[in-house]
Amino acid sequence: MARIDLHTHSTVSDGTDSPSELVAAASAAGVDVVAITDHDTTGGWAEAAEACPPGLTLVRGAEFSCLSPTGRDGEDRCSVHLLGYLFDPEHPALVTEQARLREERVTRLHTMIGRMADDGYPVDVETVFSYLPEGASAGRPHLARALVSAGVVASVDEAFAKLLHNDSPYYVPRADTAVETAVEMIRTAGGVPVFAHPLARTRGTVIEPSVLVDLVGHGLGGIEVDHPNHVPADRELLRGLAAEHGLLATGSSDYHGTNKTTPLAAETTDPEVFEALVARATGVGVVGASAGR
Ligand code: AMP
Ligand code: FE
Ligand code: FE
Ligand code: ZN
Repeated sequence: MARIDLHTHSTVSDGTDSPSELVAAASAAGVDVVAITDHDTTGGWAEAAEACPPGLTLVRGAEFSCLSPTGRDGEDRCSVHLLGYLFDPEHPALVTEQARLREERVTRLHTMIGRMADDGYPVDVETVFSYLPEGASAGRPHLARALVSAGVVASVDEAFAKLLHNDSPYYVPRADTAVETAVEMIRTAGGVPVFAHPLARTRGTVIEPSVLVDLVGHGLGGIEVDHPNHVPADRELLRGLAAEHGLLATGSSDYHGTNKTTPLAAETTDPEVFEALVARATGVGVVGASAGR
């Protein structure tokens, strides 16, 4: 059966493989379909498409940083991620919003570095930004790598656990897009919005499942059910919810190269679900092997 991985990151955001290395690695790992889904950017699309090896199908997408209602009364919005697939990358509202978020990512990372440096941590802007190609989406994993290289922590995971998690005094939030707006924007741009890792509890606050149901009314197309940060009971809950509401249930590795330990295709999407996703998109097509099918 085809191996389909619909969620991966390159150096254009917080992965460690360049877009061409990413498609080469997917091909070498025996993956049939891979999606490039960098945070808040389509900057890796052209290189990945250009380098897409024969036999591999490339799905162009992005992971949008959003704020969502938690579904619990009296609570502020929480940080969530929304995957968007096969949307028109030139849709004006989307281009403007992604550019705003990338700028805010830079400012916010400067603030985090400043706070840590003030407390005596051996981190500086030059080192952190040396991990980022021009125009890439800056994020906490870049700061985590600087902390590893300075010997403060042994791994990116340890950096998050000790210093960079959402409740850390060094954490600086961003003004991310309202998730309802992002769902509608991706749809308007001809893409398919899929809620990323909705119940990844190890990362912090998660939403109530009722939020997913509310988003169906805004045009949500799917839920990422099989994800390395989802426990079995939550997968079953999400799978049931997807079936009940006609949502696509995807599965993906959320590969970040050496910034995380998860290999490509550690979790995969059913070929029928993938075909249905492609059939719903009107923005851009897939690249490579199954293009035009
Ligand atoms: P940011 O976009 O700067 O808020 O950073 C979030 C990114 O950090 C996510 O996209 C993940 O790649 C990574 N991340 C979040 N939580 C963890 C964690 N607990 N351990 C390792 N990486 C994490
Ligand atoms: Fe990431
Ligand atoms: Fe994510
Ligand atoms: Zn991701």
